Amino acid sequence: TPNSWEARADAASFYGFTDLPSVRDRGTVVLTHGEGPYVFDVHGRRYLDANSGLWNMVAGFDHPGLAAAAKAQYDRFPGYHAFFGRMSDQTVMLSEKLIEVSPFEGGKVFYTNSGSEANDTMVKMLWFLAQSEGQPERRKILTRKNAYHGVTAVSASMTGKPYNSVFGLPLDGFIHLTCPHYWREGRPSESEAAFTARMGIELEETIAREGADTIAGFFAEPVMGAGGVIPPSAGYFQTVVPILKKYGIPLISDEVICGFGRTGHRWGCEAYEFMPDAIISSKNLTCGYFPMGAVILGPELTDRLQAASDAIEEFPHGFTASGHPVGCAVALKAIEVLLEGTTGAPPLIENVNALTPAFEAGLARLANHPHIGEARGKGLMGALEAVKDKSNKTPFDSHLSVSERIANTCTDHGLICRPLGQAVVLCPAFIMTEAEIAEMFEKLETALNAVFDELT
Ligand code: PLP
Repeated sequence: TPNSWEARADAASFYGFTDLPSVRDRGTVVLTHGEGPYVFDVHGRRYLDANSGLWNMVAGFDHPGLAAAAKAQYDRFPGYHAFFGRMSDQTVMLSEKLIEVSPFEGGKVFYTNSGSEANDTMVKMLWFLAQSEGQPERRKILTRKNAYHGVTAVSASMTGKPYNSVFGLPLDGFIHLTCPHYWREGRPSESEAAFTARMGIELEETIAREGADTIAGFFAEPVMGAGGVIPPSAGYFQTVVPILKKYGIPLISDEVICGFGRTGHRWGCEAYEFMPDAIISSKNLTCGYFPMGAVILGPELTDRLQAASDAIEEFPHGFTASGHPVGCAVALKAIEVLLEGTTGAPPLIENVNALTPAFEAGLARLANHPHIGEARGKGLMGALEAVKDKSNKTPFDSHLSVSERIANTCTDHGLICRPLGQAVVLCPAFIMTEAEIAEMFEKLETALNAVFDELT
Protein backbone atom coordinates (compact mmCIF):
# COMPACT_ATOMS: atom_id res chain seq x y z
CA THR A 1 0.00 0.00 0.00
CA PRO A 2 1.27 3.50 -0.82
CA ASN A 3 1.50 4.65 2.79
CA SER A 4 2.97 1.46 4.23
CA TRP A 5 6.28 1.68 6.05
CA GLU A 6 7.80 -0.44 3.27
CA ALA A 7 6.59 1.90 0.52
CA ARG A 8 7.75 4.95 2.47
CA ALA A 9 11.15 3.32 2.99
CA ASP A 10 11.48 2.59 -0.72
CA ALA A 11 10.25 6.05 -1.72
CA ALA A 12 12.57 8.28 0.26
CA SER A 13 15.70 6.35 1.22
CA PHE A 14 18.59 4.81 -0.65
CA TYR A 15 19.68 1.43 0.68
CA GLY A 16 23.26 0.30 0.44
CA PHE A 17 24.08 -2.78 -1.62
CA THR A 18 20.46 -3.38 -2.65
CA ASP A 19 18.76 -3.52 -5.99
CA LEU A 20 16.78 -0.32 -6.32
CA PRO A 21 13.08 -0.76 -5.46
CA SER A 22 12.22 -0.32 -9.13
CA VAL A 23 14.00 -3.57 -10.00
CA ARG A 24 13.48 -5.46 -6.76
CA ASP A 25 10.36 -7.55 -6.37
CA ARG A 26 10.37 -8.08 -2.64
CA GLY A 27 12.32 -7.80 0.50
CA THR A 28 11.77 -4.46 2.23
CA VAL A 29 11.66 -4.96 5.99
CA VAL A 30 11.28 -1.98 8.34
CA LEU A 31 12.44 -2.78 11.85
CA THR A 32 11.46 -1.26 15.14
CA HIS A 33 13.44 -3.01 17.86
CA GLY A 34 15.33 -6.08 18.92
CA GLU A 35 15.57 -8.58 21.75
CA GLY A 36 18.70 -10.68 22.14
CA PRO A 37 19.53 -11.96 18.63
CA TYR A 38 15.99 -11.27 17.29
CA VAL A 39 14.69 -8.18 15.49
CA PHE A 40 11.03 -7.15 15.05
CA ASP A 41 9.41 -5.41 12.11
CA VAL A 42 6.66 -2.79 12.04
CA HIS A 43 4.05 -5.59 11.82
CA GLY A 44 5.38 -7.26 14.94
CA ARG A 45 6.97 -10.12 13.00
CA ARG A 46 10.05 -11.58 14.67
CA TYR A 47 13.21 -12.58 12.80
CA LEU A 48 16.24 -14.42 14.11
CA ASP A 49 19.13 -12.36 12.74
CA ALA A 50 21.74 -14.89 11.64
CA ASN A 51 23.97 -12.03 10.56
CA SER A 52 24.14 -10.00 13.79
CA GLY A 53 23.16 -6.89 11.80
CA LEU A 54 26.25 -6.57 9.61
CA TRP A 55 28.44 -8.93 11.66
CA ASN A 56 28.55 -6.33 14.42
CA MET A 57 25.58 -6.67 16.84
CA VAL A 58 27.36 -9.53 18.54
CA ALA A 59 26.06 -8.74 22.03
CA GLY A 60 22.49 -8.71 20.74
CA PHE A 61 20.04 -5.86 20.38
CA ASP A 62 19.21 -5.14 24.02
CA HIS A 63 22.45 -5.37 25.98
CA PRO A 64 21.83 -3.31 29.11
CA GLY A 65 25.50 -2.66 29.92
CA LEU A 66 26.35 -1.19 26.53
CA ALA A 67 23.30 1.08 26.42
CA ALA A 68 23.96 2.19 30.01
CA ALA A 69 27.60 2.99 29.23
CA ALA A 70 26.45 5.20 26.36
CA LYS A 71 23.77 6.91 28.48
CA ALA A 72 26.15 7.60 31.36
CA GLN A 73 28.70 9.12 29.01
CA TYR A 74 26.06 11.22 27.18
CA ASP A 75 25.11 12.63 30.58
CA ARG A 76 28.72 13.28 31.57
CA PHE A 77 30.39 14.58 28.37
CA PRO A 78 28.44 13.95 25.17
CA GLY A 79 31.01 14.78 22.54
CA TYR A 80 34.51 16.00 21.87
CA HIS A 81 37.25 15.69 19.28
CA ALA A 82 40.83 14.44 19.40
CA PHE A 83 42.57 17.36 17.66
CA PHE A 84 45.10 19.98 18.85
CA GLY A 85 46.36 17.97 21.79
CA ARG A 86 42.91 17.56 23.33
CA MET A 87 40.95 14.37 23.88
CA SER A 88 38.49 12.96 26.38
CA ASP A 89 39.50 10.84 29.36
CA GLN A 90 37.49 7.97 27.82
CA THR A 91 39.65 8.18 24.69
CA VAL A 92 42.83 7.99 26.78
CA MET A 93 41.54 4.93 28.60
CA LEU A 94 40.36 3.18 25.45
CA SER A 95 43.72 3.59 23.71
CA GLU A 96 45.52 2.07 26.69
CA LYS A 97 43.01 -0.77 26.77
CA LEU A 98 43.23 -1.47 23.02
CA ILE A 99 47.00 -1.69 23.17
CA GLU A 100 46.70 -3.99 26.18
CA VAL A 101 44.35 -6.37 24.34
CA SER A 102 46.23 -6.12 21.03
CA PRO A 103 48.96 -8.61 20.16
CA PHE A 104 51.47 -5.71 20.21
CA GLU A 105 54.04 -4.76 22.83
CA GLY A 106 53.23 -1.05 22.83
CA GLY A 107 51.80 0.98 19.98
CA LYS A 108 49.29 3.76 19.35
CA VAL A 109 45.67 4.08 18.29
CA PHE A 110 44.02 6.44 15.79
CA TYR A 111 40.21 6.71 15.74
CA THR A 112 37.74 6.95 12.86
CA ASN A 113 33.97 6.54 12.48
CA SER A 114 34.01 3.37 10.39
CA GLY A 115 36.06 0.50 9.06
CA SER A 116 36.35 2.12 5.62
CA GLU A 117 37.80 5.26 7.14
CA ALA A 118 40.19 3.23 9.25
CA ASN A 119 41.55 1.53 6.11
CA ASP A 120 41.75 4.92 4.36
CA THR A 121 43.58 6.33 7.35
CA MET A 122 46.05 3.46 7.33
CA VAL A 123 46.79 3.96 3.63
CA LYS A 124 47.30 7.69 4.22
CA MET A 125 49.67 6.85 7.08
CA LEU A 126 51.69 4.59 4.77
CA TRP A 127 51.76 7.28 2.06
CA PHE A 128 52.74 9.88 4.66
CA LEU A 129 55.63 7.63 5.73
CA ALA A 130 56.69 7.17 2.12
CA GLN A 131 56.77 10.93 1.55
CA SER A 132 58.54 11.79 4.77
CA GLU A 133 61.06 8.95 4.54
CA GLY A 134 62.16 10.11 1.08
CA GLN A 135 60.50 7.28 -0.89
CA PRO A 136 57.52 9.04 -2.50
CA GLU A 137 57.13 6.29 -5.12
CA ARG A 138 56.24 3.75 -2.38
CA ARG A 139 52.46 4.04 -2.89
CA LYS A 140 51.07 0.78 -4.27
CA ILE A 141 48.73 -1.26 -2.11
CA LEU A 142 48.44 -5.04 -2.35
CA THR A 143 45.18 -6.80 -1.43
CA ARG A 144 43.37 -9.93 -2.67
CA LYS A 145 40.46 -10.57 -5.01
CA ASN A 146 37.22 -10.99 -3.03
CA ALA A 147 38.62 -8.95 -0.17
CA TYR A 148 36.25 -6.39 1.33
CA HIS A 149 37.87 -3.35 2.90
CA GLY A 150 35.12 -0.74 2.61
CA VAL A 151 33.52 1.79 0.31
CA THR A 152 35.41 5.09 0.42
CA ALA A 153 37.39 5.74 -2.77
CA VAL A 154 40.57 4.23 -1.31
CA SER A 155 39.04 1.34 0.66
CA ALA A 156 36.79 0.48 -2.31
CA SER A 157 39.95 0.37 -4.43
CA MET A 158 41.38 -2.09 -1.93
CA THR A 159 38.20 -4.16 -2.12
CA GLY A 160 38.69 -6.91 -4.68
CA LYS A 161 35.17 -7.02 -6.10
CA PRO A 162 34.24 -6.33 -9.72
CA TYR A 163 31.21 -4.21 -8.71
CA ASN A 164 33.46 -1.22 -8.03
CA SER A 165 34.03 -0.81 -11.77
CA VAL A 166 30.72 1.12 -11.86
CA PHE A 167 32.65 3.90 -10.09
CA GLY A 168 35.69 3.62 -12.36
CA LEU A 169 37.57 2.05 -9.45
CA PRO A 170 40.08 0.80 -8.40
CA LEU A 171 42.35 3.82 -8.43
CA ASP A 172 45.75 3.24 -10.00
CA GLY A 173 48.24 1.33 -7.89
CA PHE A 174 45.79 -0.99 -6.10
CA ILE A 175 46.77 -4.55 -6.99
CA HIS A 176 44.60 -7.59 -6.27
CA LEU A 177 46.24 -10.97 -5.83
CA THR A 178 44.49 -14.33 -6.09
CA CYS A 179 41.93 -15.10 -3.39
CA PRO A 180 43.40 -17.88 -1.21
CA HIS A 181 40.26 -20.01 -1.50
CA TYR A 182 41.56 -23.50 -2.19
CA TRP A 183 38.15 -25.07 -2.95
CA ARG A 184 37.38 -22.55 -5.72
CA GLU A 185 40.82 -21.43 -6.89
CA GLY A 186 42.82 -24.65 -6.55
CA ARG A 187 43.70 -26.29 -9.86
CA PRO A 188 42.58 -29.85 -10.66
CA SER A 189 44.80 -32.28 -8.72
CA GLU A 190 46.70 -29.42 -7.03
CA SER A 191 47.19 -30.17 -3.32
CA GLU A 192 46.34 -27.50 -0.75
CA ALA A 193 50.03 -27.21 0.13
CA ALA A 194 50.91 -26.68 -3.54
CA PHE A 195 48.12 -24.10 -3.85
CA THR A 196 49.41 -22.17 -0.83
CA ALA A 197 52.95 -22.29 -2.25
CA ARG A 198 51.57 -20.89 -5.51
CA MET A 199 50.03 -17.97 -3.58
CA GLY A 200 53.50 -17.24 -2.20
CA ILE A 201 55.09 -17.42 -5.65
CA GLU A 202 52.46 -15.06 -7.05
CA LEU A 203 53.16 -12.57 -4.26
CA GLU A 204 56.91 -12.74 -4.80
CA GLU A 205 56.53 -12.39 -8.58
CA THR A 206 54.19 -9.42 -8.13
CA ILE A 207 56.67 -7.69 -5.84
CA ALA A 208 59.47 -8.35 -8.36
CA ARG A 209 57.37 -7.06 -11.28
CA GLU A 210 56.13 -3.92 -9.52
CA GLY A 211 59.36 -3.21 -7.60
CA ALA A 212 59.50 -3.71 -3.84
CA ASP A 213 60.25 -0.02 -3.34
CA THR A 214 56.93 0.97 -4.97
CA ILE A 215 54.76 -1.03 -2.55
CA ALA A 216 53.44 0.71 0.57
CA GLY A 217 51.64 -2.20 2.23
CA PHE A 218 49.72 -5.48 2.07
CA PHE A 219 46.22 -5.59 3.61
CA ALA A 220 44.43 -8.83 4.46
CA GLU A 221 41.39 -9.98 6.38
CA PRO A 222 42.42 -13.10 8.36
CA VAL A 223 39.14 -14.70 7.22
CA MET A 224 37.56 -12.86 4.30
CA GLY A 225 34.09 -11.81 5.38
CA ALA A 226 31.98 -10.05 2.76
CA GLY A 227 33.82 -12.01 0.06
CA GLY A 228 31.77 -14.99 1.31
CA VAL A 229 33.47 -16.14 4.56
CA ILE A 230 36.68 -17.51 3.11
CA PRO A 231 39.27 -18.85 5.53
CA PRO A 232 42.79 -18.83 4.07
CA SER A 233 44.26 -22.02 2.68
CA ALA A 234 46.35 -23.96 5.19
CA GLY A 235 49.67 -22.23 5.86
CA TYR A 236 48.75 -19.13 3.82
CA PHE A 237 49.92 -16.51 6.31
CA GLN A 238 52.98 -18.58 7.22
CA THR A 239 53.86 -18.41 3.50
CA VAL A 240 53.16 -14.75 2.72
CA VAL A 241 54.38 -13.12 5.95
CA PRO A 242 58.07 -14.05 5.51
CA ILE A 243 57.95 -12.75 1.91
CA LEU A 244 56.51 -9.41 3.05
CA LYS A 245 59.15 -9.21 5.80
CA LYS A 246 61.93 -9.96 3.33
CA TYR A 247 60.91 -6.94 1.22
CA GLY A 248 60.07 -4.64 4.13
CA ILE A 249 56.38 -4.41 3.19
CA PRO A 250 54.09 -3.69 6.17
CA LEU A 251 51.29 -6.22 6.76
CA ILE A 252 47.98 -4.77 7.89
CA SER A 253 45.42 -7.15 9.38
CA ASP A 254 41.91 -5.91 8.59
CA GLU A 255 40.14 -7.25 11.68
CA VAL A 256 36.89 -5.31 11.19
CA ILE A 257 34.99 -8.62 11.29
CA CYS A 258 37.45 -11.04 12.93
CA GLY A 259 38.49 -8.63 15.69
CA PHE A 260 37.25 -9.32 19.17
CA GLY A 261 36.17 -12.87 19.16
CA ARG A 262 34.42 -13.82 15.91
CA THR A 263 36.91 -16.62 15.19
CA GLY A 264 36.96 -17.81 18.80
CA HIS A 265 40.25 -15.97 19.32
CA ARG A 266 40.64 -12.32 20.32
CA TRP A 267 42.01 -11.44 16.88
CA GLY A 268 42.05 -13.27 13.57
CA CYS A 269 45.82 -12.86 13.41
CA GLU A 270 46.00 -14.83 16.65
CA ALA A 271 43.73 -17.53 15.21
CA TYR A 272 46.12 -17.89 12.25
CA GLU A 273 49.28 -17.23 14.28
CA PHE A 274 50.83 -14.31 12.46
CA MET A 275 52.00 -10.91 13.68
CA PRO A 276 50.84 -7.92 11.62
CA ASP A 277 52.35 -4.43 11.70
CA ALA A 278 48.96 -2.82 12.35
CA ILE A 279 45.35 -3.83 12.97
CA ILE A 280 42.18 -2.26 11.58
CA SER A 281 39.23 -2.55 13.97
CA SER A 282 35.54 -1.56 13.87
CA LYS A 283 32.16 -3.36 14.24
CA ASN A 284 32.71 -5.44 17.43
CA LEU A 285 34.83 -2.58 18.76
CA THR A 286 31.54 -1.18 20.04
CA CYS A 287 29.35 -4.28 19.48
CA GLY A 288 27.59 -2.06 16.94
CA TYR A 289 26.27 0.33 19.63
CA PHE A 290 28.23 3.33 18.27
CA PRO A 291 29.84 3.96 14.86
CA MET A 292 33.56 3.77 15.41
CA GLY A 293 36.73 2.45 13.82
CA ALA A 294 40.34 2.34 14.91
CA VAL A 295 43.80 1.90 13.48
CA ILE A 296 45.97 0.12 16.03
CA LEU A 297 49.62 0.57 15.10
CA GLY A 298 52.28 -1.81 16.33
CA PRO A 299 55.45 -0.39 17.89
CA GLU A 300 57.55 -0.12 14.73
CA LEU A 301 54.98 1.80 12.66
CA THR A 302 54.24 3.93 15.74
CA ASP A 303 57.89 4.99 16.02
CA ARG A 304 58.19 5.71 12.30
CA LEU A 305 54.96 7.71 12.22
CA GLN A 306 55.95 9.64 15.32
CA ALA A 307 59.31 10.54 13.79
CA ALA A 308 57.69 11.57 10.52
CA SER A 309 55.04 13.69 12.29
CA ASP A 310 57.65 15.35 14.52
CA ALA A 311 59.60 16.32 11.39
CA ILE A 312 56.67 18.29 9.94
CA GLU A 313 55.15 19.15 13.33
CA GLU A 314 51.82 17.44 12.77
CA PHE A 315 49.97 14.52 11.22
CA PRO A 316 47.35 16.42 9.20
CA HIS A 317 44.45 13.97 9.37
CA GLY A 318 41.45 13.29 11.61
CA PHE A 319 37.66 13.30 11.78
CA THR A 320 35.40 15.57 13.83
CA ALA A 321 34.22 12.55 15.80
CA SER A 322 37.59 10.72 16.03
CA GLY A 323 37.80 9.29 19.54
CA HIS A 324 34.24 10.37 20.39
CA PRO A 325 33.87 10.04 24.19
CA VAL A 326 30.55 8.17 23.96
CA GLY A 327 32.02 5.75 21.39
CA CYS A 328 35.07 5.24 23.61
CA ALA A 329 32.93 4.61 26.71
CA VAL A 330 30.88 2.07 24.74
CA ALA A 331 34.05 0.42 23.38
CA LEU A 332 35.52 0.12 26.88
CA LYS A 333 32.32 -1.65 27.94
CA ALA A 334 32.36 -3.81 24.77
CA ILE A 335 35.88 -5.04 25.56
CA GLU A 336 34.70 -5.95 29.05
CA VAL A 337 31.60 -7.74 27.68
CA LEU A 338 33.48 -9.62 24.94
CA LEU A 339 36.89 -10.36 26.39
CA GLU A 340 36.95 -9.83 30.14
CA GLY A 341 33.49 -10.52 31.49
CA THR A 342 31.29 -8.33 33.66
CA THR A 343 29.95 -9.03 37.12
CA GLY A 344 27.95 -12.22 36.88
CA ALA A 345 28.54 -12.66 33.14
CA PRO A 346 31.50 -14.51 31.66
CA PRO A 347 33.16 -12.98 28.59
CA LEU A 348 31.14 -13.60 25.44
CA ILE A 349 34.19 -15.02 23.65
CA GLU A 350 33.69 -18.07 25.89
CA ASN A 351 30.21 -18.50 24.43
CA VAL A 352 31.67 -18.25 20.91
CA ASN A 353 33.88 -21.22 21.72
CA ALA A 354 31.06 -23.06 23.48
CA LEU A 355 28.72 -22.63 20.48
CA THR A 356 31.28 -23.37 17.76
CA PRO A 357 30.89 -27.20 17.81
CA ALA A 358 27.09 -26.91 17.32
CA PHE A 359 27.62 -24.27 14.63
CA GLU A 360 30.17 -26.43 12.80
CA ALA A 361 27.92 -29.48 13.12
CA GLY A 362 25.02 -27.52 11.60
CA LEU A 363 27.17 -26.42 8.67
CA ALA A 364 28.49 -29.96 8.18
CA ARG A 365 24.96 -31.39 8.20
CA LEU A 366 23.79 -28.99 5.47
CA ALA A 367 26.97 -29.67 3.50
CA ASN A 368 25.54 -33.15 2.80
CA HIS A 369 22.86 -31.54 0.70
CA PRO A 370 23.25 -32.42 -3.01
CA HIS A 371 23.34 -28.72 -3.94
CA ILE A 372 25.75 -27.50 -1.29
CA GLY A 373 29.26 -27.62 -2.71
CA GLU A 374 31.21 -26.38 0.26
CA ALA A 375 30.57 -25.56 3.91
CA ARG A 376 33.33 -23.42 5.36
CA GLY A 377 33.98 -21.19 8.30
CA LYS A 378 35.91 -20.37 11.43
CA GLY A 379 34.48 -19.84 14.90
CA LEU A 380 31.03 -18.27 14.53
CA MET A 381 31.34 -17.24 10.90
CA GLY A 382 30.28 -19.67 8.22
CA ALA A 383 29.08 -20.02 4.64
CA LEU A 384 27.30 -22.61 2.54
CA GLU A 385 28.12 -22.45 -1.16
CA ALA A 386 25.31 -23.50 -3.49
CA VAL A 387 26.26 -25.44 -6.62
CA LYS A 388 24.24 -26.76 -9.51
CA ASP A 389 26.50 -29.78 -9.88
CA LYS A 390 28.42 -30.91 -6.83
CA SER A 391 30.72 -33.27 -8.76
CA ASN A 392 32.37 -30.45 -10.71
CA LYS A 393 31.47 -27.40 -8.57
CA THR A 394 29.43 -25.82 -11.39
CA PRO A 395 27.51 -22.84 -10.03
CA PHE A 396 23.86 -22.17 -10.75
CA ASP A 397 23.11 -19.80 -13.62
CA SER A 398 23.52 -16.35 -12.15
CA HIS A 399 20.13 -15.12 -13.37
CA LEU A 400 18.52 -17.63 -11.00
CA SER A 401 19.87 -15.58 -8.03
CA VAL A 402 20.04 -18.77 -6.00
CA SER A 403 21.41 -17.30 -2.77
CA GLU A 404 19.00 -14.35 -2.90
CA ARG A 405 16.10 -16.79 -3.29
CA ILE A 406 17.33 -18.75 -0.29
CA ALA A 407 17.70 -15.59 1.78
CA ASN A 408 14.24 -14.32 0.75
CA THR A 409 12.69 -17.66 1.66
CA CYS A 410 14.50 -17.54 5.00
CA THR A 411 12.98 -14.09 5.61
CA ASP A 412 9.53 -15.60 5.00
CA HIS A 413 10.35 -18.15 7.72
CA GLY A 414 11.55 -15.53 10.20
CA LEU A 415 15.29 -15.84 9.61
CA ILE A 416 17.59 -13.11 8.30
CA CYS A 417 20.66 -14.44 6.55
CA ARG A 418 22.84 -12.99 3.87
CA PRO A 419 23.38 -13.99 0.25
CA LEU A 420 26.93 -13.39 -0.97
CA GLY A 421 27.65 -14.56 -4.49
CA GLN A 422 26.11 -18.05 -4.53
CA ALA A 423 26.82 -18.57 -0.86
CA VAL A 424 24.59 -18.01 2.13
CA VAL A 425 26.48 -16.52 5.02
CA LEU A 426 25.85 -16.99 8.73
CA CYS A 427 27.48 -14.96 11.48
CA PRO A 428 25.30 -15.28 14.56
CA ALA A 429 25.47 -13.06 17.62
CA PHE A 430 27.77 -14.25 20.40
CA ILE A 431 24.86 -14.26 22.87
CA MET A 432 22.93 -16.97 21.05
CA THR A 433 21.93 -20.16 22.81
CA GLU A 434 22.31 -23.66 21.36
CA ALA A 435 18.52 -23.67 20.84
CA GLU A 436 18.77 -20.49 18.76
CA ILE A 437 21.64 -22.00 16.72
CA ALA A 438 19.41 -25.03 16.11
CA GLU A 439 16.49 -22.78 15.10
CA MET A 440 18.77 -20.97 12.64
CA PHE A 441 19.83 -24.21 10.90
CA GLU A 442 16.30 -25.64 10.87
CA LYS A 443 14.90 -22.56 9.18
CA LEU A 444 17.78 -22.43 6.75
CA GLU A 445 17.33 -26.10 5.86
CA THR A 446 13.63 -25.57 5.19
CA ALA A 447 14.49 -22.67 2.88
CA LEU A 448 17.27 -24.59 1.10
CA ASN A 449 14.99 -27.53 0.42
CA ALA A 450 12.20 -25.29 -0.88
CA VAL A 451 14.48 -23.33 -3.22
CA PHE A 452 16.40 -26.33 -4.55
CA ASP A 453 13.12 -28.19 -5.16
CA GLU A 454 11.93 -25.20 -7.18
CA LEU A 455 15.16 -24.91 -9.19
CA THR A 456 15.90 -28.55 -9.96
N1 PLP B 1 36.86 -4.08 6.43
C1 PLP B 1 36.14 -5.21 6.57
C2 PLP B 1 36.86 -6.51 6.72
C3 PLP B 1 34.74 -5.18 6.59
O1 PLP B 1 34.03 -6.30 6.70
C4 PLP B 1 34.10 -3.92 6.47
C5 PLP B 1 32.62 -3.83 6.51
O2 PLP B 1 31.92 -4.80 6.42
C6 PLP B 1 34.89 -2.78 6.33
C7 PLP B 1 36.25 -2.89 6.33
C8 PLP B 1 34.25 -1.44 6.17
O3 PLP B 1 33.68 -1.02 7.36
P1 PLP B 1 32.52 0.10 7.34
O4 PLP B 1 31.34 -0.50 6.71
O5 PLP B 1 32.34 0.39 8.81
O6 PLP B 1 33.06 1.27 6.62
